[in-house]
Amino acid sequence: MSSDGLNLPGADRAIRLLLVGATDEQAGWLRGLLQKSKTLRFETLRVAAIDPAQGEQSAAPRVDAVLLFCPTADPTELEALVSAGIAFPECASLVIADLEDEHFAMEALAGGARVALVRGGLTASALVSALLAAIASHRTIRALGVARKRERHLGNHDQLTGLANRYLFNDRLQQAVAAAGRNGRKMAVLFIDLDNFKLVNDTLGHGVGDGLLRSVAGHLSSSLRESDTAARVGGDEFALLLTNLHDELDAERIARKILSALDHPIELRDRSISCTVSIGIATLPGDGSDPKELVRKADTAMYHAKKRGRNRCEFYTDDMNEAVLRRVQLEGGLRTAIQDGSLRLHYQPLFDLRRERIVGAEALIRWQHPELGFLAPADFLPLAEETGQIVTVGEWVLQTACRQNVRWQRGGNEGFRMSVNVSARQLLEADFVDQVREALMTSGLSPELLDIEITESSLVSDAEVTVNALRALSELGVHISIDDFGTGYSALSYLKHLPIDALKIDQSFVRSLKSDPADATIIQAVVMMARGLNLTTVAEGVETHDQLLLLGSYGCNRMQGYLFGRPVEAEAFEERLRDPTFHWHRGDEESPGD
Ligand code: C2E
Ligand code: MG
Ligand code: MG
Repeated sequence: MSSDGLNLPGADRAIRLLLVGATDEQAGWLRGLLQKSKTLRFETLRVAAIDPAQGEQSAAPRVDAVLLFCPTADPTELEALVSAGIAFPECASLVIADLEDEHFAMEALAGGARVALVRGGLTASALVSALLAAIASHRTIRALGVARKRERHLGNHDQLTGLANRYLFNDRLQQAVAAAGRNGRKMAVLFIDLDNFKLVNDTLGHGVGDGLLRSVAGHLSSSLRESDTAARVGGDEFALLLTNLHDELDAERIARKILSALDHPIELRDRSISCTVSIGIATLPGDGSDPKELVRKADTAMYHAKKRGRNRCEFYTDDMNEAVLRRVQLEGGLRTAIQDGSLRLHYQPLFDLRRERIVGAEALIRWQHPELGFLAPADFLPLAEETGQIVTVGEWVLQTACRQNVRWQRGGNEGFRMSVNVSARQLLEADFVDQVREALMTSGLSPELLDIEITESSLVSDAEVTVNALRALSELGVHISIDDFGTGYSALSYLKHLPIDALKIDQSFVRSLKSDPADATIIQAVVMMARGLNLTTVAEGVETHDQLLLLGSYGCNRMQGYLFGRPVEAEAFEERLRDPTFHWHRGDEESPGD
């Protein structure tokens, strides 16, 4: 509550009173009493009557209290007086009656007057005290009103951005859906999520994160009409409610307006930050008329906007729902997949051209899903990365592949290598190096026979943690390869600083090796650079003899691809190991598949 309520006028300035309806005699009597006060000064202003419709605007200068003189006990006169007093919400109102009638005073109070005084026998000090009490209590009541209003606002609004919160949003959504049901108008729910907000928050600090959220909130509010609602419904999630739309395209127009407003970097105090958002849209009546359903569908559409590259908006469609159901099915299934044996490793041969034989294998994961059937890594690994399940899955891959390699070593394939793919997320785990050490120890595999494959993009994500992990792995004696090399758009300087052993040239370059001279040039350059840095090159996706010969002529000695064998289960791979040499079958390029 503000201290204003206690800071009464009087000491520093006169108390201003507006006398309404007072006769000359009454005004004289009142002034006479007030002058007796030794400490307070009063100024009086007289008007014959007040038009309640005009209220305060008619009274200048501002007054502290309105004194309403009631000439008779006529109830209609009293009512008119009291409503005139109510027309002055900013100041206290007192009714002063000429009559010796307590009953009349009670009626005046019941009618809304704060204080009712009966003139007969009223002393100066009683009048002054009543006046001060009326002014003070009026201020207290006003301050309480302001505090209550503020409290209501806080309960319904997000403190950081000042936007509506989830409760108010849901409430307005419910009302809007009901109204749309009555008036048949269209409406839309937009679900908005910041792209890469976590990265900003983690790397630049929460202060910058908060500034960014406030700024985005400002952009959202200014993209809306008065009747729409913008809310912050989660950490970096916002929702918009658009009502009375002509058609769905209105919603898209607003979404595009938001996207283009955020197209320019946001200026925060001492830096500017690029911030994009992904937006999902659900509309009524198209997507139903259940408020919860609309929010869920807008959220699903937002998720798809992220999947399709972020910084875009998507309308909800029913196929998206299927994708979400599938996602839930996958996420749940993956939790038990390791125990129930439905995750498998397939092995693809690594071929050495100079020795003309298979010298190793790459472990590639597959999932025999009980309902969805055979799943390739692309079907479930992105989700496993997102949910963090990749950490447990990856640990299982490491252990299984190491154990398998030891089995093959013991079967007479000494020096046989095993490559294991490791995702960026695994490298960020504090105990990743311990997991590798553990897998080597329990299986008994020599570290130099294990190749850890990482992609260029995992080097970008969190330099220091990743660099430390790679150094520790290298000290263990494990080899490190860069997978899908050439697709990562990263600066190559890391090749100098990091303990890397091999570059695996991405299959996209190999695929068009013969038809596209640019790809041939890139591969030659990579092989030359690798030689200069004392790195091995491995070509991926080799499917034809022509590719094999060209790659060989560039000096690329190691290769993988269907030409040497598709990824197969361990038992089938053992067949291949019985005769690990390469047989030239020109004109018969296709190897049997898995
Ligand atoms: P990658 O590590 O680059 O693996 C090579 C991919 O190319 C494999 O696909 C392989 O089956 C395919 N491939 C091999 N030779 C040929 C060829 O001659 N022609 C064509 N068209 N394709 C060929 P796959 O098994 O679907 O794996 C895809 C990606 O999934 C892998 O790419 C790897 O990045 C990831 N992955 C697989 N297993 C694991 C795993 O256990 N952990 C992690 N983190 N990632 C994995
Ligand atoms: Mg790989
Ligand atoms: Mg690759």
